[in-house]
Amino acid sequence: MLANSAMLDRRQFNAVLLGASAIVTSSARAQQVADIDIAIIGAGAAGLVAAHRAREKGLKARIFEARNRVGGRIFTDESLGAPFDAGAFYIHFAERNPWKRIAEDLKVELVDDDTLWGGFNVFRNGQPIPPDERMRRRGAFGRLTAAVEAENPGADLSFAEAARRHAPELESAAEGMTLLSLGEEAEHVSIRDYQMLDSGEDFVMPSGYGHLLERYSRGLDIALMTPVTEIDSRGPGVRITGPRGTVTARAAIVTVPVSVLQAGGIRFLPDMPETTRTALDGLRMGALTKVALKVEGNRFGLSPWTQFFDQGSGALGADLLNFEFWPFERDLVIVFLGGNFARDLSKAGEAIAIATVRERLVTILGKDAEKAITGGRLAGWSADPYALGGYSIARPGHAGARKALEAPFNGLVYLAGEANAGAASMTAGGAALAATRVVDDIATRLAR
Ligand SMILES: Cc1cc2nc3c(=O)[nH]c(=O)nc-3n(C[C@H](O)[C@H](O)[C@H](O)COP(=O)(O)OP(=O)(O)OC[C@H]3O[C@@H](n4cnc5c(N)ncnc54)[C@H](O)[C@@H]3O)c2cc1C
Repeated sequence: MLANSAMLDRRQFNAVLLGASAIVTSSARAQQVADIDIAIIGAGAAGLVAAHRAREKGLKARIFEARNRVGGRIFTDESLGAPFDAGAFYIHFAERNPWKRIAEDLKVELVDDDTLWGGFNVFRNGQPIPPDERMRRRGAFGRLTAAVEAENPGADLSFAEAARRHAPELESAAEGMTLLSLGEEAEHVSIRDYQMLDSGEDFVMPSGYGHLLERYSRGLDIALMTPVTEIDSRGPGVRITGPRGTVTARAAIVTVPVSVLQAGGIRFLPDMPETTRTALDGLRMGALTKVALKVEGNRFGLSPWTQFFDQGSGALGADLLNFEFWPFERDLVIVFLGGNFARDLSKAGEAIAIATVRERLVTILGKDAEKAITGGRLAGWSADPYALGGYSIARPGHAGARKALEAPFNGLVYLAGEANAGAASMTAGGAALAATRVVDDIATRLAR
């Protein structure tokens, strides 16, 4: 559990709500005396950046967060002794990613991802694949990248279909690529959405992305353990309701994952407009998942950052695992998985997930690994009720969904987060950029 300086204790929280309920006895009066300008739902990357931006604009904002910690899908887990990031790890496209500047301002060490190379091998059922097959696979990845780039952007096919159209054997490479980079089967990924995503320089933080967000949250007005269940924008103002009371604000920013909205986690009054609903239907959540194994006393001759891909016995990469050894020289192996395999293991629970990846690692490294593996953690985002997945994927034919989610409803309720961040979507940087755009828009509207 993250200790958080912004955490309110139960008594403070009640005071927050008591103060709030006093201001909503008359909705007309509430408009005049609403004690906050912006209610922000969610204390992840988008929510925290929105709160800072609101403060810069002279607006009073409060964050309502369901969990007992900040960070959302960014969390540095220290339960195995050595820290690892259970969610986001890379500061992608650092050239325009606000988290790079935030990390620099907070004097957090940044390491260029290009320096983290430790070697690489490919296995099938724990056995190294023959060199000629490895060459063929490498060739297929190269051809796939070229094929994706060449695909007519007008045709919004699935990633799998686009690969098949170029050469049937590219489909398996496509599956591997989308499972381990997006956490989703290639059949469900819009090629057009994928093509428009930003890339650039990547950086990592040895101290942990989650710790960066925790530090950045200090001093903000954050009500933790405060799930929002209803947002009423019938006016005047917006009424934000949770199990413990109601608060009135002049505008609301909803940063919860699209999966939480799809699952009806928040009731909107009036209902979301049809355009927003249709846009939500065009997205789904990938299931990028990590299992961290603690491995002590034996490095098995492998350098830090070595990567092993292991294709199990399933078809087309269905049970593909990527092992990353000794990050930052720590006694950890981080295992990545995605798609339905990851969903099933997340649902099955931590013990089964750890046992599954442990067995696969022992097959690769041999019996000595059995006693070296002393613990494990599952970061099962798909089974987490406040995430319900890894990050948003646009379905084939729905590359326009992200843009459609930018329109506020009733002029008062805005969505912001990784799902509607244009070319920066799916990332923490995108969440930050979307939040900044939305707060600037609200500030302009409120100033009118
Ligand atoms: C395994 C994995 C690896 C990743 N790797 C990277 C990476 O390397 N780099 C990168 O940039 N991105 C990565 N991502 C994606 C990144 O984590 C997300 O894009 C980003 O964290 C999303 O931020 P957000 O603020 O939009 O949403 P969230 O972080 O999900 O924040 C939303 C907040 O809303 C809260 N909430 C939900 N429901 C309610 C409710 N009803 N009431 C109140 N609060 C609620 C949640 O608890 C959460 O704190 C990864 C994600 C995963 C899962």
